[in-house]
Amino acid sequence: MSMKYEKEFPLFMTKIPGLDEKFDLSTVEGRKVYFQAKIGQEIDKLKKYFEEGKTFIAYFLGKKNSGKGTYTKLLIEIFGADKIGHLSVGDIVREVHEALRDEGKKKELLDYLKKNFRGYMSPEEAIQALISRDQKNLLPSEFIMALIKREIDQMGKKTIFVDGFPRNLDQISYSLFFKELVDYRSDPDIFIGIDIPEAVLDERMKWRRVCPICHTPRNLKLFTTKEVEFDDEDKQFYLICDNPNHERSRMFGKEGDEMGIDSIRERLELDDKLIEKIFSLHGVPKIFIRNAVPVKNANELVDDYEITPEYVHEYDEQSQQVKTVEKPFIVKDDEGEDVFSLLAPPVTLSLIKQLVEVLGL
Ligand SMILES: [Zn+2]
Repeated sequence: MSMKYEKEFPLFMTKIPGLDEKFDLSTVEGRKVYFQAKIGQEIDKLKKYFEEGKTFIAYFLGKKNSGKGTYTKLLIEIFGADKIGHLSVGDIVREVHEALRDEGKKKELLDYLKKNFRGYMSPEEAIQALISRDQKNLLPSEFIMALIKREIDQMGKKTIFVDGFPRNLDQISYSLFFKELVDYRSDPDIFIGIDIPEAVLDERMKWRRVCPICHTPRNLKLFTTKEVEFDDEDKQFYLICDNPNHERSRMFGKEGDEMGIDSIRERLELDDKLIEKIFSLHGVPKIFIRNAVPVKNANELVDDYEITPEYVHEYDEQSQQVKTVEKPFIVKDDEGEDVFSLLAPPVTLSLIKQLVEVLGL
């Protein structure tokens, strides 16, 4: 974080003096009580806003894996899927690609594009570009916007949290006029910057494990499951998926993830430039949320149970049992300062508080 960042991403206090109850942030029920106790008033204000049929569009700007999807999921958990929609451009592109195998759906998309897409390619060429896309060649912005508009048309009118747009510097200009394009003319639009130390992203990526059956992501080091086992052959610990709706299943890392963030360095640098560019925008409301708090300030700002723990697994040869102990997870932020990484609920809490402020509720 540069000095400029430091100012823009203020430290946020989620601790409430006198509130000593410890909440369980790992269950839906526990989170409900937690949010109610800490920001019940703000939640009521936003609920009222949504009940009145009002909406807004919010753009998340943060590095890859900074938690955009997770924060939106928590907002949906609090306010309901009928009020809040998650719009992930990556997901849309993958789903459209999948749907193109079906001739009927392909024709439907072509018809939609013929009516709604203006750009330097024909709709057929745009579809071809999507099928043969790669990391280096981004799809034309006009095409991405047509796909987003189509998704929003299908969603019905709700508050939308957009993840993956704007994705490059050119798209920032587009995003300024986006709400007119999707008929959200009089609604506020808000930019949400997320600050997260690269060291946290690195650990998230290196230790990420995914269930091959239900695709639930967990983390061997930061977000363990109930059952952990030890593979005697490759001397590695592994997680067993918690999902009770399918058979017992070992979770695996994704190919390349063990390299950590070095493999996505270019992407991270571009994301950084995007966030910095947003700082210089005038006339749009901005919210800044941060994933980490300096260890030296943690005690006054946050409660212990809001901090991401590190799970350390040990294998006992004799009993052939894995023992897991929790300890504080301390990393260096991008400035070299010792920080704690916050769990998603306290970050979402700071987001909700700032939303209420920005909307003037
Ligand atoms: Zn599973």
